[in-house]
Amino acid sequence: MKKLILLYLAFLISSYYIFSQICGTPHPTNPTIYSGSASSRTSGSSELCIDVFFHIVRNTNGTSAFTLPNTDAIVSELNKFYSPHNIVINNSGSGFINNSNNLHVDIREGNSIAHLKNRSGVINYYIVDDMPYNGFALDIPSDALFIKDDRIYTPTSAHELGHCLGLYHTHKGLAHRERGCAEAIDGSNCDTCGDLVCDTPADNGKVNTNGYMPDLTNIMSYFHLFGYNRDHFTNGQGRRMRMALDNAPILSRVLSIKLSKVDKLCSTQSVTLSLSSLPSNLTTTWTVSSNITIVSSNNNSVTVRAKSSNATGNGWVKATLSNGVVLQEDFSVGAPDMMGYKLYNHSYNGNYTYLKHRVWNYLSIVYDTSVPDYYTTYSSPYHLKWEVTADHSLIRANPNRLPKAVISPRHPNEQGIVVGIRAENGCGYSWWKWQDFIVKEIAGGVVIINEGTTMEETEDGQ
Ligand SMILES: [Zn+2]
Repeated sequence: MKKLILLYLAFLISSYYIFSQICGTPHPTNPTIYSGSASSRTSGSSELCIDVFFHIVRNTNGTSAFTLPNTDAIVSELNKFYSPHNIVINNSGSGFINNSNNLHVDIREGNSIAHLKNRSGVINYYIVDDMPYNGFALDIPSDALFIKDDRIYTPTSAHELGHCLGLYHTHKGLAHRERGCAEAIDGSNCDTCGDLVCDTPADNGKVNTNGYMPDLTNIMSYFHLFGYNRDHFTNGQGRRMRMALDNAPILSRVLSIKLSKVDKLCSTQSVTLSLSSLPSNLTTTWTVSSNITIVSSNNNSVTVRAKSSNATGNGWVKATLSNGVVLQEDFSVGAPDMMGYKLYNHSYNGNYTYLKHRVWNYLSIVYDTSVPDYYTTYSSPYHLKWEVTADHSLIRANPNRLPKAVISPRHPNEQGIVVGIRAENGCGYSWWKWQDFIVKEIAGGVVIINEGTTMEETEDGQ
């Protein structure tokens, strides 16, 4: 009998230990799927800065119930995990709650404390003495999280903030009695099930069993229970957090300082970018890309124009704040640049030097990634309107003005034709880019190819 009681006690203690090691964040029954095209912010090209305010719970008489936290150290730990995803956590201050009743909280109590004490425009980070978990966010997404004082410098901090920014557990729907639709082992339903992030593998809560290969060190996993060190978010999780920051109403005000957005800067324009909600104790240093000139600037805004009438390519404006935070806005400058674009002949098995005589040939305009750093961020072909011209050929109009064309060469066998492409982006047309093709005859439906392939590219002014 004594042995049984001991066993029962051991079970109670170990189950309490496991329970206290997990996260208490409640999971909404209808998770938000963020879809659609990514904005420049969600694609990760500019920094998102989030204000976090710390509420430290003390005894009613104002004495500390635990060692006073170093909130800068918490923020610095958080930034280790968030900065790879261009999300920057800013310490916007801290305050005390002198109420011994709030030293030990569950989710219900957390909700009532948040109702009374939450500040707007920040993520509210409550530090308490004890709770049945390591920590919890009030919802997904949310502007409040609660955490035990002995977990504040551990990945639990990043985990609960991840919930606030829209992330679910990697095992959602599959393990730890967490409801929801399960992610297939091959991830085929990753857009609509599991944690709704496609680059986190299906996670059955166990270490590499039954064919599952979960990410054992993911911040949003429970593999710390097996001794693994949770140390990263995936790019997909970073993107989902940025999407949540862009779209979730409850998060709309936690982004602290924003640099206004610009799509393009035509060569004849000037444009003013400004910082919203810049604290008065910060100063700004402005820098711009080499194709842009600063006309005027102050702490809160900068006016820029294109450096010359033929300036082109990607441009950026960067605000470096005196607290080290850098905000950057990227946009295209001037008319499009044809450097790096090629016409690709789909009708001919990847050999773009030949076009079939009297046959409709499908060409698409592709960007050659071997040319460094043009159009990598903003000016993918689909952002531009395209025109195509070809001598000795018929051209089938492309009603959607997509970067493709269908042409039918009328030149005889072995003669060359010249195809030109140019693009328009709202600032004006690029110069024509010319590309030579050799016309081939077709015998009995079979293309005869002669030895020797050449392809010429020529570029000239408009
Ligand atoms: Zn959690």
